[in-house]
Amino acid sequence: MKIVVPVKRVIDYNVKVRVKADGSGVDLSNVKMSMNPFDEIAVEAAVRLKEAGVASEVVVVSCGIAASQETLRTGLAIGADRAVLVETNIDLQPLAVAKLLKAIYDKEKPQLIICGKQAIDDDANQTGQMLAALMNCGQATFASKLEIVDGKAIVTREVDGGLETLELPLPAVVTTDLRLNEPRYATLPNIMKAKKKPLETLTPADLGVNVEPRLTTLKVVEPSSRKAGIIVPDVQVLLNKLKNEAKVIAG
Ligand code: AMP
Repeated sequence: MKIVVPVKRVIDYNVKVRVKADGSGVDLSNVKMSMNPFDEIAVEAAVRLKEAGVASEVVVVSCGIAASQETLRTGLAIGADRAVLVETNIDLQPLAVAKLLKAIYDKEKPQLIICGKQAIDDDANQTGQMLAALMNCGQATFASKLEIVDGKAIVTREVDGGLETLELPLPAVVTTDLRLNEPRYATLPNIMKAKKKPLETLTPADLGVNVEPRLTTLKVVEPSSRKAGIIVPDVQVLLNKLKNEAKVIAG
């Protein structure tokens, strides 16, 4: 069984994001970039299926600028077998990525595609769902457990008030939630080995996909800063303030 894992290069989750002065977007200059954390979980899930003898090959795919190669190398260091970069300088929106991944699906014919549930930069949470629609196959989003049993994917999802378990025929799209696993650290020997693994570069035109944006970002603003809090001396003063100043409890 072949597994494809789409991985996105995003601002590292430890970085405090700055908005560009003209409000046109987020400032990416001199900012540490990393693999989207949910995609690391997806690569880990795929590699574990390979280690368990369920999967035969894990292919990581990234769509974006040439520097996304670093993100792919991280995936290879975690344990993926090979990588595909769909290179473009156009700012990709989820539908464009989903179309590129559908073209990769047609080319690679994997039985399973494991995406992250969302990219932490744009928080779109759309690509996996759109991809499943384009592939006309089943999808299980926000997976907290994933097994392959008798050629079917068994996926547990955390839903309000409990757990839901789904069975999907393959091929299918699964998107990962935080609790699916804890990704391993890439060791130095594996980082070295990853440099020698195959990395193929394609363009959207090679795949016959038009990736021109359909949406225009009008404005990006920083969240308003929180007012400083105060320390109250005792519960009585707190109750008094909640009642008479904040007016959130009845008198
Ligand atoms: P999003 O819909 O943008 O929140 O992204 C959801 C998931 O789609 C991510 O966690 C990735 O697995 C995949 N994805 C999104 N954008 C890209 C991209 N440019 N290249 C590869 N995978 C992507």
